[in-house]
Amino acid sequence: MAPTPVYRRILLKLSGEVLMGSQPFGIAPEVLPQLAQEVAEVRALGVDVAIVIGGGNIIRGIAATEQGLERVTGDYMGMLATVINALALQDALEKKGCQTRVLTAIEMRQVAEPFIRRRAIRHLEKGRVVIFAAGTGNPFFTTDSAAALRASEIHADALLKGTKVDGLYTADPVRDVGACLVKQATYQYLLERGLSIMDAAAVSLCQNANIPIRIFNIRVPGNIKRVVLGEDVGSTVSD
Ligand code: UDP
Repeated sequence: MAPTPVYRRILLKLSGEVLMGSQPFGIAPEVLPQLAQEVAEVRALGVDVAIVIGGGNIIRGIAATEQGLERVTGDYMGMLATVINALALQDALEKKGCQTRVLTAIEMRQVAEPFIRRRAIRHLEKGRVVIFAAGTGNPFFTTDSAAALRASEIHADALLKGTKVDGLYTADPVRDVGACLVKQATYQYLLERGLSIMDAAAVSLCQNANIPIRIFNIRVPGNIKRVVLGEDVGSTVSD
């Protein structure tokens, strides 16, 4: 018998850095087909898949201020960067046979559909992969917050956060060798510790909507599917 997914509808949050591969910047051509293949396999299980993609591989608002740009300008540039990534991911997904729609929070009709919640849900019901681009459409937010917001709006069963590390740690494992992996944590634990894995606004949104956050290593091939099938991968944040 085919394995049964534990989630009916997921919101997958991918940081822009995932697309960089081993490059210092931009989109590594070899990453997209691999990522798209994994998403296609999850879709083939009958799971509704929505994706929020970041833009950190191109530009982040905060970094732009260091070069003398106004923060809000930098944030809009960051949001536009997410649209570039969304289009690249859409292309890769369609090459794998997944019908995909990009819905953007900043209108640009020649490029993508505007974000309309009901339309997003309709696409998901029709089996299309939906990529939410341009974050929340507002400066001073992150794509993690956009992911939590969209997950709440589409009634996702879980927010899957693919990262560079194996899950949630007591401190940043890249900087602190003493950091320990936490398999299970509450939203409150994350909020009180101020852990940088996800910003507080995003965690609070998930807490309010009671959406579990699954944090796992996206660089391990097959991990998205493992999480969807309920295997013991990464960490879970819930009540
Ligand atoms: N951004 C924004 N509002 C949003 C989402 C993103 O202003 O709702 C901007 C912000 O400048 C951010 C950049 O877009 O730094 C890229 O998003 P993010 O840093 O979350 O990307 P990731 O780290 O996931 O690649």
